[in-house]
Amino acid sequence: MSGQIWAVVQQKDGRLQRAGRETVAAAQALARELGTTAVAVVLGDGVAGAGSELAGMALAGVRVVEHSRLGAYTPGGYLAALAPLIRAGAPAYVLFAHTYQTVDYLPRLAQELDAGLLPEALGFQKVDGELRWTRPVLGGKLHAQVRTVGEGPVLVSLQSGAFPADAVQAGSAPVEQVAAALDGVDLQREVLGIESAAEGTVDLTKAEVIVGVGRGIGGQEKLGPVEELTRLLGAELAASRPVVDSGWLPRERQVGSSGQTVAPKLYLALGISGAIQHLVGMKGSGMVIAVNKDASAPIFKIATYGVVGDLHEVVPALNQALQQRAAG
Ligand SMILES: Cc1cc2nc3c(=O)[nH]c(=O)nc-3n(C[C@H](O)[C@H](O)[C@H](O)COP(=O)(O)OP(=O)(O)OC[C@H]3O[C@@H](n4cnc5c(N)ncnc54)[C@H](O)[C@@H]3O)c2cc1C
Repeated sequence: MSGQIWAVVQQKDGRLQRAGRETVAAAQALARELGTTAVAVVLGDGVAGAGSELAGMALAGVRVVEHSRLGAYTPGGYLAALAPLIRAGAPAYVLFAHTYQTVDYLPRLAQELDAGLLPEALGFQKVDGELRWTRPVLGGKLHAQVRTVGEGPVLVSLQSGAFPADAVQAGSAPVEQVAAALDGVDLQREVLGIESAAEGTVDLTKAEVIVGVGRGIGGQEKLGPVEELTRLLGAELAASRPVVDSGWLPRERQVGSSGQTVAPKLYLALGISGAIQHLVGMKGSGMVIAVNKDASAPIFKIATYGVVGDLHEVVPALNQALQQRAAG
């Protein structure tokens, strides 16, 4: 094995996604921990832009796999492009973002390579000289410490927000074009078109600041000051499930196990108790500020800052302070 750490970086329309930068940040961190080097791999059709972005990062190399048959994701295409590359390069770990795409093809890639598979990792640490990974079990109620055993590369998918994209170290990396033998390969799926799940759908995963509102708001008619706070902060508005189930905000704004998984720099949790199904969707946030009138609410266990108080008093006071700051 080369012992290198590879980051297979997801792109969209030839541009790196935040998830892709998070994968690079994780690969750099792991390479530092293990005293080895990190390499990025990007695949698609028309991904030279993503390759150039990666060339500005502290990596031992960037491999760009371009092919017209990689334009739209298919499990057959990704498998046929990645398996020979990984077999030949023999990295110790190959990191991916944990996305719908990787959930789809990683088990098959692992089987093809006879590789270990560690899905949804939250982090790693060295204990007694060996690498241990943390991953959620039982729907995120518990965190398991796991180590991989056996030979061969280990494929690891990383939970959103586990390794902040901001931590990517800049540098200069040589870019290498790698040919993929995809002619005649069975792609096993034909992509007929790609469309948004819903017209005007909000992509909370890209938001840097999110104001999350819970049942503690008490009704749709009381949302005004929270919407004002969202506007003043240049944030996106999000909600816990009861708020959505009550019809106070649309489903596309739900955060949690049956909603979106977000990792903003700042998450304001207003009147949210902190049930596990909500926490799994936002605990990768850089900073969490919680406002709840119950001092024993579980949200305070993961909050960076907590305000025990009535959100109907705290939010207008925050709005006033922000308006004064903007004015003066
Ligand atoms: C299969 C499954 C999937 C689920 N998926 C999701 C999901 O994706 N997302 C999600 O959020 N939930 C999900 N849930 C629901 C989850 O279990 C919780 O019920 C939900 O997260 C609670 O939402 P909440 O915190 O807004 O409401 P509550 O638990 O009712 O909490 C309201 C909080 O507001 C506080 N409060 C009340 N009034 C005020 C006030 N004036 N000022 C300040 N604080 C106040 C209270 O002290 C309380 O802590 C799911 C549940 C199941 C079973």
